[in-house]
Amino acid sequence: MSKSTQVLVVGGGPAGSTVATFLAREGFDVTLMEKEVFPRYHIGESLLPSCMPILDLLGAKEKVDACGFQLKKGGYFDWGGEQWDISFGDPSEDYSYSYQVVRSDFDQLLLDHAKSQGVSVLEGAEVKRLRFDGARPRTAIWTPVSRDGRIPEQEISFDFLIDASGRAGLMTTRYLRTRRYHDVFKNIAVWGYWKGAKNLPVGPEGAIAICSVPDGWFWGIPLHDGRLSVGLVTHRATFASKRNEGASPDRIYQEAIRECPVITDLLTPAELIMPLRVEQDYSYTSERFTGPGYFLVGDAACFLDPLLSTGVHLATYSALLAAASLASVLRGEVGEEEAGDFYEQTYRQAYLRLLVVVSKLYQQYSGKDSYFWEAQRLTLHDCGAADLKQAFVSVVSGIEDLRDAQATLELAMETAGDVLAEERKLSPLYNKKTLERMLPEERELIQAKVQFFKSLPQEARGLHLVMKPQLGLAHQ
Ligand SMILES: Cc1cc2nc3c(=O)[nH]c(=O)nc-3n(C[C@H](O)[C@H](O)[C@H](O)COP(=O)(O)OP(=O)(O)OC[C@H]3O[C@@H](n4cnc5c(N)ncnc54)[C@H](O)[C@@H]3O)c2cc1C
Repeated sequence: MSKSTQVLVVGGGPAGSTVATFLAREGFDVTLMEKEVFPRYHIGESLLPSCMPILDLLGAKEKVDACGFQLKKGGYFDWGGEQWDISFGDPSEDYSYSYQVVRSDFDQLLLDHAKSQGVSVLEGAEVKRLRFDGARPRTAIWTPVSRDGRIPEQEISFDFLIDASGRAGLMTTRYLRTRRYHDVFKNIAVWGYWKGAKNLPVGPEGAIAICSVPDGWFWGIPLHDGRLSVGLVTHRATFASKRNEGASPDRIYQEAIRECPVITDLLTPAELIMPLRVEQDYSYTSERFTGPGYFLVGDAACFLDPLLSTGVHLATYSALLAAASLASVLRGEVGEEEAGDFYEQTYRQAYLRLLVVVSKLYQQYSGKDSYFWEAQRLTLHDCGAADLKQAFVSVVSGIEDLRDAQATLELAMETAGDVLAEERKLSPLYNKKTLERMLPEERELIQAKVQFFKSLPQEARGLHLVMKPQLGLAHQ
């Protein structure tokens, strides 16, 4: 085992494997440490089509296509008394589908792919601590898995650290202390796997079913091995009060199923085949996603409520951005601070935009008479005035980017209607006559919004992602 590496990646989930593979393919010396030995269980089975072009760039799409995972051509919503489908597009289009994956298999495939592309992968290697040179992480102290606990700690030094440690958040929770939980989406998920469930009789092929109930919502995800993953998301306060009344997680879950006609119907002939799992899925962000010598990717940087199945998309998208930023830094094309600013702003923008869309979708639920629905209201507490403004501008101005997430674009159209209406209000700005005809307040509002957009950091807007002839950043 080498005592030093150019880039150390901590964590072998989708974010870690993706960033490591991209960097190794660019010719850098990359070591990835993963504390578990794969395959290991993980939640997060429903992928968005926006993951497919990234898997393609990574050279892993054909391998994923060959796995036999359940094809996913869209979603079916039974939400607040209304039903609608989301189709990912024309089947003849390149990325008009995604998959419902068994994460232990999917994550192992990506990690094996990383090895095949030249990444030095160590499984069963837990990074215990980091040592810093000022604010710059320089050395990791790690332990190999050991049955008798007697294997001594080892050290590895590195030029750059990529923290892909997921919700454990090595850098943010232990050193930077920059993780901030939102007040909104303080939810808990309870889920299990069922055998013998019916196929969803409506919606596109392999659709995820998203169904609201009075105190939350359910996902139903069909998997290729015949199991149906069924999860309840409810507010932690609702869950706690039911627990205080003596209800077990199992009872809370089963009672909620009875309130959900779609899921009840799917499960009528089915049998629960594993003990239920419970996890808090609180949403959070870190105040910073980069700093001297490090990048945070995927859940290590931020986590968003699972309503729109955005986790693996954000993990692989941030991995692509971080790999491009770091590749350009290592080749001396772009300064570290400038690349960090690009990464920071681009990833945060993608996250905030989805945060707004998720919140809009929660607010669209018409029967908001229970605490759960009130508690999903996004407020200034959750992102701060500047962030909320930026989120707004992101939705308004970032529709181009949303094309990378076809599903999200459609949902944005469906759910962020009022924000999109604002976009139409912005366009007359370029038409002086229309501006003059406006009420002064209206004119002021529009000018303020445009001013805000113009004031976004120039660094991020002055750089863009390039894939050819090599992955990196380029000045516009
Ligand atoms: C209830 C729920 C439902 C969800 N549903 C979906 C869904 O349907 N679709 C979707 O796209 N997303 C979903 N998600 C989100 C998804 O699970 C995550 O966003 C995604 O796994 C993030 O990938 P990652 O690589 O950042 O982190 P992870 O996949 O968590 O990987 C992090 C890895 O780091 C390793 N690690 C941690 N600490 C260390 C250390 N010190 N040293 C070495 N290794 C370490 C861990 O063992 C782990 O393997 C859901 C999440 C929840 C909570």
